[in-house]
Amino acid sequence: MRKWFVGLSLTVAATLLSVANIKPATADDFPSRPITLIVPAAAGGPTDAVSRLIAESMGRTLGQQIVVENVGGAGGTIGMTRVAKSPADGYMVTVWHIAQATAPSLYNNLQYDVISDFDSIGRIADVPMTVVGKAALEVKDAKELIAWIKQKKNDVTYAHAGIGSASHLCALMFMSAIDTQMTGLSYRGTGPAMTDLLGGQFDVMCDQTTTTTSQIKESKIKGYAATTKERLKVLPNLPTLDEVGLKGFEVTAWHAMWAPKGLPPDVHKKLSNALQAALKDPKVIERLAALGTEPVKPEQATPEALAAHLKAEVAKWAPVIKAAGVKAN
Ligand code: ASP
Repeated sequence: MRKWFVGLSLTVAATLLSVANIKPATADDFPSRPITLIVPAAAGGPTDAVSRLIAESMGRTLGQQIVVENVGGAGGTIGMTRVAKSPADGYMVTVWHIAQATAPSLYNNLQYDVISDFDSIGRIADVPMTVVGKAALEVKDAKELIAWIKQKKNDVTYAHAGIGSASHLCALMFMSAIDTQMTGLSYRGTGPAMTDLLGGQFDVMCDQTTTTTSQIKESKIKGYAATTKERLKVLPNLPTLDEVGLKGFEVTAWHAMWAPKGLPPDVHKKLSNALQAALKDPKVIERLAALGTEPVKPEQATPEALAAHLKAEVAKWAPVIKAAGVKAN
C-alpha cells in the first residue's frame, strides 16, 4: 500500500514538474518550431521554385526552417483545402497563384471560401507565362504554330496542372483566341509536365518563365511566345501573342502567400514582415530575375493589398470563365 502511494506521489510530482515546464505558446516565441509551407502543385514546377526561394529567405529572418510540402492535384484545390482546415497558428502557410482567384468559378464543390477562409500574408511576384513546345515540333515560330494547331485541332496535345491552374487558364484563353480546341492532359503540377515535354510526350504547354526560361535557352524545348503585353527581358527574341495577332492577350500568374484564417495579429505581422524582407533580399531578387520575374512593389506586397487584389481577380475572371463555358465538376 505504502509502495503504491509513494509511486503515485512520484508520478504526480513528475507530471506537475513537466506541466510547469510547458509555457503557453505566445507570439513572442513564434516561431518556436519549423513552419510548413504547402505548395499545392508537384515539386519541380514554377510555384515550387518560387516557394523554395521565399521559404529559405523568410526562414533566415524568422530563425526557423520553413519546410516545403508539395500537395498537388485538382488544380491546387487539394492542397488549399488542407491549408484552409489547418490551425491558424502561423505554422501552416501556402504559396499559390492566380488559381486562388479562378477556383470559385471553376469548382462547384470547393471545401473552402478563397476569401473568408484565408489570411493574406502578401503578394510575391507576377510571373509571365510562355507558350512552349516539344523540341521535335517542326513548327518554327508562333505564327506557324497557330496555323498548325488550327489545322490539326484535337490531334494536338497540351498539358496543364489541373482545371483552374495557371497553365490551364492560359491554354483556355489561347484556344479561345484562336477559336480551336486541342486535347488537354492533366498533371499534378507543371514540374512533371515539363519532364514529359522534355521527353516529347505531348506537343505544347503554356507555363511560367520560372521553369521554361532555361529550357528554352538551352533549346531543350521550343519557345514560341510570351503571354505578357511586353516582350520579356529574359527572352527578348520571343514575340508576344499580341504581336503575332492575338490582340490584347495577357495572362500572368501572380503568386502570393496565405495562411488559414484567424492568425493571432502578432504572428500575422511577423509572417508578413518576413515576407516583405524576403522580397528585398538581393539573393531572391537575383534568382527571380534569372527566372524572368521580379518581386512586386512593396505597396503591392502587403496583406491588405493582396486581399484587395484577390477580390478584384475573382471578379475579373468569373465572367471570362463563364463565357468560356468551363467547369471542373
Ligand atoms: N505552373 C503550374 C500551373 O499551371 C503550377 C505549378 O506546377 O507550379 O498552375
